[in-house]
Amino acid sequence: MEKKQIGVLAVQGAFAEHIAMVRRLGAEAFEIRQLPDLERPMDGLILPGGESTAMRKLLDELGLYEPLRAKIAAGLPVYGTCAGLLLLAKEIEGGTPCFATMDVSAVRNAYGRQLGSFYTEAEFAGLGTIPMTFIRAPYIASVQKNVKVLATVDEKIVAARQGNQFATAFHPELNEDVTVHRYFLEEVCKGN
Ligand code: GLN
Repeated sequence: MEKKQIGVLAVQGAFAEHIAMVRRLGAEAFEIRQLPDLERPMDGLILPGGESTAMRKLLDELGLYEPLRAKIAAGLPVYGTCAGLLLLAKEIEGGTPCFATMDVSAVRNAYGRQLGSFYTEAEFAGLGTIPMTFIRAPYIASVQKNVKVLATVDEKIVAARQGNQFATAFHPELNEDVTVHRYFLEEVCKGN
């Protein structure tokens, strides 16, 4: 089987850790920094954590916004972490949506103990208890019926999937556990 090719948005934020994680799982990862990077074959896309407002601005300036939005809307498997979740969300309480392709309503910087930065362990999608690192994390306040909830912490939704779109409020790339990236590669990117 050919190695899966995963594009990782690398204009800002924690992209290097995602690239390392994808490679550890035997797939190939490449950085998306400018338009020509989108000419490479891509089986999946990762939108990393960072600062969603800065990323949105850079996506516009670099001309990446529309082509990426179109690819996601056309069914490209995508995984958004933290700020990446905010880029996908159709609604953001107290913020402006970006791609707005995923039928979830998110709340920015509004979650949890220690001003939204904390570590916990919780059940993920029937795959066991995994480490979850939250950094000024958003959470998902509500989802449409077509969205599957994959994890909750303190009764807040922290992982969800809608077909080709998958998002977590926490940062699995900052821990050693590969469950979430394996889920993305094997389940969300299936058939691509
Ligand atoms: N608070 C950040 C935002 O609004 C997200 C934080 C993160 O990605 N670690 O973009």
